[in-house]
Amino acid sequence: MIDLHCHSNVSDGRLSPAEVVRLAHANGCTLLALTDHDHTGGLTEARAEAQKCGIRLINGVEISVTWRKRTVHIVGLDFDDGNEDLQNLLAEVRKGRLKRLQAIAAKLEKQGIGGAYEGALALAANPETVSRTHVAEFLINTGHVRNQQQAFSKYLGDGKPASVPHEWADLAAAVAAINGAGGLAVIAHPMRYGFSATAKRNLFEAFKASGGAAIEVHSGRSGQNDRLNYALSAERYGFLSSAGSDFHRQSGYGGGILGACPALPDICRPIWECFRPPHSFDSGQIEKTPFKIISNGL
Ligand code: AMP
Ligand code: MN
Ligand code: MN
Ligand code: MN
Repeated sequence: MIDLHCHSNVSDGRLSPAEVVRLAHANGCTLLALTDHDHTGGLTEARAEAQKCGIRLINGVEISVTWRKRTVHIVGLDFDDGNEDLQNLLAEVRKGRLKRLQAIAAKLEKQGIGGAYEGALALAANPETVSRTHVAEFLINTGHVRNQQQAFSKYLGDGKPASVPHEWADLAAAVAAINGAGGLAVIAHPMRYGFSATAKRNLFEAFKASGGAAIEVHSGRSGQNDRLNYALSAERYGFLSSAGSDFHRQSGYGGGILGACPALPDICRPIWECFRPPHSFDSGQIEKTPFKIISNGL
C-alpha cells in the first residue's frame, strides 16, 4: 500500500506530521511520502514516527510553480532535504504567501467580508504556508459558505471575486532544484488543472525538457479512466508513474483515503522502483541509483 502525496499542518493539512504517519500506517500503508506545499519542515517529525511504526517514509514536497501564467504543482520525491539550493527555492516560494493573503483579504473586504487576514492566519499552524484552504476554512467558520468547494467557486477560485494572480516558482527552476537535491520531479494531479489536450501536451513536453521524471497517474479520488489515460501519457513521454491520495483531512474537500492508492495499470513503471535504498541520506551517501527513461522516440 503506497501513498506518495499527502499533507500535514505544516502546510494546509489538518493533522500533524506524526498523526499523518500514524493514520497512514493504521490504514495499511507501507510506503509514504509527506508532500507539504512548499515546505519540508514536517519531514523530521514524520521520519521519527515512521521509524516507530515501521513504515517507510520518502522525503517529499509539493512545489507551487507558474507555467504560462497558470499554477501547476510539482511534487519532489526522495531528495536530500538538507540541500541548500532546494531550501532557498522553497523559502522564496513561501515568501509571497502573506502578501497574497493580504490581497485576498482586501478583496473579500470589498465583498463585505472582514477579518479574513487574521482569521486565516489563526487557522494556520505555520503562517509561512498560509493557504487559500485556510481562507476557505475561515469562510466556512464565519458562515459565508457551506464548504470548501463553495469557498473556491464563490470567492477564491481563478477568476472569482477574491482571486489574486500570483507568481510562484519557475517550472524549470523547481525541477532543477529537485534534481539538484538528488530527487525525482513529478507533475501532481494532471487531471485537475482543466487544461486542454494541447496545454497538457505542452506542459508534459516542457516538464520533460526540464528533467521531470514522472506524472501522477492516480490522484485523490480519480477513477480507472483517468489512471488508464495518464498511464498512456506516461508511456508516451517516457515518464515514471506516481500515485498519491492528496490527503488533507479526514472530512471535507478532496483527497482520497490516506495511504491507500489503487494499483497502477500494468504498463506503468512505478516511480518507487527508482527510490534509493532506505537510510542512504543518513549515512551521508546522496548518490542516486541511476534510472533509465525508456525512450520510444515520441
Ligand atoms: P494555495 O496554494 O494557497 O493557492 O491553495 C491551494 C490549495 O487549495 C490546494 O492545495 C487545495 O488543497 C485547495 N484547493 C484548490 N482548488 C480547490 C477547489 N476548487 N476546491 C477546494 N479546494 C481547492
Ligand atoms: Mn493543498
Ligand atoms: Mn496540489
Ligand atoms: Mn497536494
